[in-house]
Amino acid sequence: MSDMRPIEEVDPQLAELIQREVKRQRDQIHLIASENYVSYATMQASGSVLTNKYSEGYPGRRYYEGCEFIDGVESLAIDRAKRLFGADHANVQALSGSQANMAAYLAVLEPGDKILGMALDQGGHLTHGASVNFSGRIFEFFGYGVDRETEQIDLDEVRRLAHEHRPQMIVAGYSAYSRYIDWAAFREIADEIGAVFLVDAAHIIGLIAGSAHPNPVPHAHIVTATTHKALQGARGGIILCKEEFAKAIDKAVFPVVQGGAINSQIAAKALGLEQASRAEFKTYANQIVRNAKVLAGAMDDEGLRVVSGGTDNHMFLVDLRSIDTELTGKEASQFLDAHGVTLNRNAIPFDPRPPFITSGLRLGTPAVTSAGMMQEQMVLLGKLIVELLRKRIDPYSVNLYTGQVRELAEAFPAYPADFPGYV
Ligand SMILES: *Cc1c(COP(=O)(O)O)cnc(C)c1O
Repeated sequence: MSDMRPIEEVDPQLAELIQREVKRQRDQIHLIASENYVSYATMQASGSVLTNKYSEGYPGRRYYEGCEFIDGVESLAIDRAKRLFGADHANVQALSGSQANMAAYLAVLEPGDKILGMALDQGGHLTHGASVNFSGRIFEFFGYGVDRETEQIDLDEVRRLAHEHRPQMIVAGYSAYSRYIDWAAFREIADEIGAVFLVDAAHIIGLIAGSAHPNPVPHAHIVTATTHKALQGARGGIILCKEEFAKAIDKAVFPVVQGGAINSQIAAKALGLEQASRAEFKTYANQIVRNAKVLAGAMDDEGLRVVSGGTDNHMFLVDLRSIDTELTGKEASQFLDAHGVTLNRNAIPFDPRPPFITSGLRLGTPAVTSAGMMQEQMVLLGKLIVELLRKRIDPYSVNLYTGQVRELAEAFPAYPADFPGYV
């Protein structure tokens, strides 16, 4: 028999760290745009005995015996993903969004091929060509950016770069961009040069699931995504594609990029996809966007400049120089974290400061919306954040505002007070 003693008994040191982390998640207000709080049922699926099973291959075509129930689980996840997003084909085995991108690139490109994506310092992801990342080491990337005035994507510039460099792939979908993306226009540019159009929907797939953002699936050849950001499911990646790419995608995930998939995570993804297809999730996804708009508006009203003037999705960037020319993203994010608000520093477009310092912050509303906060709380939170930053050297004000931040966090906890952080 397996060791059935609880974690507190087997490894108290580890149990305590998890318990302290759940307390941190309860105590802080979380505005990291890529984070969320999963459901209890997701943790159950994620922590299940499915982790014991090897199942290399795909449902009905396995290299191992005993996969009849794993086949059922994976087929469920695949069918739910296809139905939810209207995709021809889905692969649910990618361990994360980065592996999904690696597989998608390797499915259709050769090493040395050219990819046109958004430059990192303008909102792109590591896997969009960073020199330290596999993407930058294997492929030749060309970066497009945003317009200096509007701070929004300049499609004429994308078209110009596409015709100049003739990449085999064009990537749209970002880590730090708050505006709708014109999927049809990107596809048109890709078609003009015969490139594959890949959408990296890691951040916005949850909004797409809840009909709170235009769906790229009808326009893109391939869509990669994560299941743990706004989608509110387990950690992991998925790939959606047109039928013509199905075989190449499956082969690229296994055996090119990965060995055995993590079946407990596939089960948890299946559950997340089911939860994301319900009517309540539409309400949730639309509330995420409404909250982001109200939070951005509240901060703007307090004099903190919002990049591109607002947001269409779950996140936005603010330019700290607008309230204090000396204040850096590093200082602001560390100060806020120490006073109850956790978020991340982020380069703003054309940021003169280095990426580890930055002049901006990135804020996102999936987690606070999961905790139940609405517009009223966003107005208060926006005001508190700007006041805290403005008055950060005045102990009386800092104390006052930190107390209000704490009250807000206490009123909207991520998990019940007696929840140890594991199931
Ligand atoms: C988060 C993200 C990914 C994937 O990240 P993982 O941490 O590997 O899951 C990929 N692309 C974009 C645009 C992202 O924001």
